[in-house]
Amino acid sequence: MADRDRLKEQVIAEVDRRRDELIALSLKIHANPEIAFQEEKASAWLADYLESEGFAVERGICQLPTAFRASYGKGEPRVAFLAEYDALPGVGHGCGHNIIGTASAAAGLAAKAVAGETGGTVLVIGTPAEEAAGGKVYMAARGAFQGLTCAMMAHPGNRDVAVSYALACLELNVEYHGKAAHAAARPEAGLNALDAMVAAFVNIGLLRQQLRDSARVHGIITDGGQAVNVIPHHTAASLLLRAEEDAYLDESLKGKVLACFQAAAQAMGSTDMGNVSATVPAIHPSVAVAPPDIPIHTEAFRDLAASEAGHGALLDSAKALAMTAVDVLTDAGLRQRMRREFEGGG
Ligand SMILES: [Zn+2]
Ligand SMILES: [Zn+2]
Repeated sequence: MADRDRLKEQVIAEVDRRRDELIALSLKIHANPEIAFQEEKASAWLADYLESEGFAVERGICQLPTAFRASYGKGEPRVAFLAEYDALPGVGHGCGHNIIGTASAAAGLAAKAVAGETGGTVLVIGTPAEEAAGGKVYMAARGAFQGLTCAMMAHPGNRDVAVSYALACLELNVEYHGKAAHAAARPEAGLNALDAMVAAFVNIGLLRQQLRDSARVHGIITDGGQAVNVIPHHTAASLLLRAEEDAYLDESLKGKVLACFQAAAQAMGSTDMGNVSATVPAIHPSVAVAPPDIPIHTEAFRDLAASEAGHGALLDSAKALAMTAVDVLTDAGLRQRMRREFEGGG
C-alpha cells in the first residue's frame, strides 16, 4: 500500500512538472475551436505531444480521420484515458473539451511515468465529435474499446461529481447529463435530461408493486432544469432506499432502482461515454470549473474553460485520473471487483 502511495505521489509530481505546457496546450485548443469531425489541429496537437513523449501513435483509427490511439507499455492491464476535443458551433469550447483532451493526455503521461514499475499498457484514445454524432458510438461499434481493462475521462462541469450514482447508506444521488437547447427555437438539438428523470421516477413507481412490504423507495428531484425555455441539460435527484434486511437492500433493491435509472438513461440517449461503458468498465466524473448557476454550452462556461478555474480543473482531473490508473494497474483485487460489478450490471 505504501508503494502505491509513492506511485501516486509520483504521478502528481509528473502533472505538476508539466503544468505550464499543459495549460498552454489547453489554451491553444480553446483558442482554435473545431467542431465535430473537423478537429484536425486539436487531435494532431494531442497526438504529436504524446508521440514526442514516447507513445506509439496511430492516427485516423476506426475510419475517423480525427481519432487516434496512443499507447505505451505492453500487456495487461490496459488502462485508457479518453480525450475529447470538439467544440460547439458558434459557442466554441462551451463544453470545456479543451480541458478534457489535455487532462486525458496529461493523465496518460503521468501514468507512463510509473508504467515501468506497474507494468501494463497506458493508452490515450482520441475520440472526436462528442457534441454532434457521438464519435464514441462509431468507435465502440468498430471495436476501439474492446480488450480495455477500463476507460476513464473527466468532464468539466458546474459541480464536482465523483460517480453518477453515489452510495452512502443507500442514499442515492443520481444525475443525468443531456444537452441544452432552446425549447422553442431548436428543441430537436437538445437532449432532455428532465425526460430521463421523469421516466426513471415512473419506472420506480411501477417497480413498487414488486417490492417486499417493508421496502421503501422515496426521492425528490433536486434539479429539474434552469429555465422553462431551455431543454434541461442537467437534472439531479436524491433518493432513500430502506428495507428491513440489509441483504435485500444491498443485493436486490439497490440493483432494481439503479436499473430504473439506467433504463431511463438509455431511452434518452445520454453521452456517448455511455456507449463506452456498455463495452468496458468506465468512469465519467465531473470536475467543477463553474458555479452551479452557469450551465455548460454557454459563453460564460466557455470563458471559464480558459480561466484559472479551468486550469485547476485540468490539473486536478489529470491527477485524479492518473491516481485511479495507479489503483487499477497495481490492484488485482480491484480489477476483479470492477469486472464483477461490470458483468453483474451493478
Ligand atoms: Zn457538451
Ligand atoms: Zn462535453
